[in-house]
Amino acid sequence: MRLRTMRMKKKHPKIKKDDKVIIVSGKEKGKIGTVLKVESEKQRLIIEKVNIVKKHAKPSAQTVQGGIIEKEAPLHISNVMIVCNKCTEPTRIGKRILEDGSKVRVCKKCGESMDE
Ligand SMILES: [Zn+2]
Repeated sequence: MRLRTMRMKKKHPKIKKDDKVIIVSGKEKGKIGTVLKVESEKQRLIIEKVNIVKKHAKPSAQTVQGGIIEKEAPLHISNVMIVCNKCTEPTRIGKRILEDGSKVRVCKKCGESMDE
């Protein structure tokens, strides 16, 4: 008999900073990048070199001449899947409770821990 995995209450499994994700929908589909920032309230992620938008910048101390700045725009969490660093497959996040009671995220494909 298979054990039923706990269903999380509509909440997206946690993706964290420095996780590797693949974009699964939209114009950036198929791209893989590292999560730079998680906006957990809005459920959006900023992913390195993905969903780049160009912004016009006014001259400032950093950009003397102003000009165009390229910046990552946030993507909604539903547009990405985490990529397991063990089996390198896009996967879902499972949860496992260790003997000491602490929880770790596990890859649902290979079963390896994603938190180390
Ligand atoms: Zn895996």
